[in-house]
Amino acid sequence: MNISIFGLGYVGCVSLGCLAQNGHQVVGVDVNQTKVNQINTGRATIIEKDIDAIIATQHLLGRIRATTDFREAILNTDLSIIAVGTPTTAQGHLNLSYIMGVASHFGDVLREKVERAPGSFHVVALRSTVMPGTCAKIAAMIEDRSGLQRDVDFAVVSNPEFLREGTAVHDYYHPPLTLIGTESERAAQLVRQLYDELPADVIVAETKTAEIMKYVNNTYHALKISFANEVGNICSSLGIDSHEVMDIFCRDKQLNISNYYFKPGFAYGGSCLPKDLKGLQTLAHDLYLQVPVISSIHRTNEIQMQRAIALLMRYSHRNIGFLGIGFKAGTDDLRNSPAVDLAETLLGKGFALKIYDRNVHTSKLTGTNKEYIDQHIPHLSRLLVQDARELVNWADVLVICTKENEFIALAEEATGKVILDLVRLPIDMDASNQYIGINWSQEA
Ligand code: NAD
Repeated sequence: MNISIFGLGYVGCVSLGCLAQNGHQVVGVDVNQTKVNQINTGRATIIEKDIDAIIATQHLLGRIRATTDFREAILNTDLSIIAVGTPTTAQGHLNLSYIMGVASHFGDVLREKVERAPGSFHVVALRSTVMPGTCAKIAAMIEDRSGLQRDVDFAVVSNPEFLREGTAVHDYYHPPLTLIGTESERAAQLVRQLYDELPADVIVAETKTAEIMKYVNNTYHALKISFANEVGNICSSLGIDSHEVMDIFCRDKQLNISNYYFKPGFAYGGSCLPKDLKGLQTLAHDLYLQVPVISSIHRTNEIQMQRAIALLMRYSHRNIGFLGIGFKAGTDDLRNSPAVDLAETLLGKGFALKIYDRNVHTSKLTGTNKEYIDQHIPHLSRLLVQDARELVNWADVLVICTKENEFIALAEEATGKVILDLVRLPIDMDASNQYIGINWSQEA
C-alpha cells in the first residue's frame, strides 16, 4: 500500500520504518526540516533499539522517504496516518493545534484527488491519542472544505498506538491488540491490511470507543505503578521485599493480572502516562463526574518523588552523579522524565550534579529532544558528561534512575560511594559502598 505518515517523532518514525519493512511504500511528512533530512539520508529521528538499522535498510531499498509537502504526500497515497503530538494544556485539555494543523490540509487535497480519480477512497487514520469526538470533528472539517462525503469518499478512523518507548520496534511487531475505530466497513478493511502480518487480535469498534481506549489504558498503567509503589513503601518500612510481594501477588491465578508496571520503585513519567491520566481526569471533570480513584493517582506519584528527594537531602554537601536521565531505559525522551524533575529539584537546593545517559549525549540530540532541551531544560544539558567512569569517579553519591544494564558494572566497580538505586538493578555491591534500594529494603 502507499502510505503517508504525518509526524516523524517516536510513533511516526517507528511506524515509517516498520510499515516499510512489511513491504509498504511509505512517505513521512513533518514540518521539521531536520527530521525530513534525516529520513532522506537513511537516519532515524529518534533513539530507539533497532530503529537505526531499519530506517537505513528501508531507505536503501527505496521504500521510505520524507517531505514537507503535504499535498504531494496525500495525493500519492491511499492512507494517511496522523502521528503528531497531542499535549495537554495547563488546564488538562487536549491541545489539538498540531492535529488540526495537519487535518486542515486534507479538504482541498482530497477534493483534488477525487476530481483526478473519481471513485477513489482515502483513509485518514489517527494514531495520535485523541479525545472521543476528535475523528468526527476532523471528518466534519474535511467535508466542509471539500464538499466530499465521509465514509463515501474518505473516512477518518481511530487507530490508537500501543507501543512503549525503549521497546517500540518490538512492541510494533507484537502489539497487545490492534484497534480500529470506525463506522465504515471499507475503511476498516483498508486499515486491517496494514497489520495483516502482526500476531494480534484485530478489534473493530465504534470510533469513540477506540478514541478513549488509550486514556483508559495509560490511566490503568499509572494506577498499577502507584499501587505498587504504595505497597512498596509499606513493605519497605517493615523490611519486606516488595518485589517479591508483587511477584507472588501476580501469581494468583484468580486475579489473572499481568506483572507489567507492578515493580515498586520510582515515580512514573514520560510523554504519555501523566498526559493521558490528566486528560481523562479533565474529561471527567468537564462531565461533572467525581473520580476520586483516578484523581489521586498523581498524588501518589508526587509522594514517590518526595521520598527520593528526602533520601538525597541527607547528602547535600556531596557530589551527586545521575546514571540515567531519560524517563526510562532505552530512550532519549526527556519529556516529563521523573529523573529530570529530581535533578532540577536538587539543583534548586544547591547540590553539585553531573549526569550520564548514553541515549542523551548532547552530540546525539536531534529533533523532538533537542527542541525540548533547548526550550525547557537548557541548564541540564550543561551537566551532561560523555564518560560514565568520569562521573562515577567524581561522585560521592550515585543515583541510578533508569534500568540500563551498563549501570550494573559501573555500580559494581565503584568503591566508597553511596548508591541510591531507584530501579532495582541486580547489582553485586562492593562492601565499601552504602547501598540504598528504594522500596525493597530498609531506606534508613
Ligand atoms: P513527537 O512529539 O515525538 O512527534 C510529533 C512529530 O509531529 C514531531 O516530529 C513534529 O515536528 C511533528 N509535527 C508537528 N506538527 C506537524 C504538522 N502540522 N505536520 C507534520 N508534522 C508535524 O510525538 P510522539 O511521542 O510520537 O507522539 C505522537 C502521538 O502518539 C501523541 O498523540 C502521543 O500521545 C501518541 N502516542 C505516543 C507514544 C509514545 O510512546 N511516544 C505511544 C503511543 C501513543
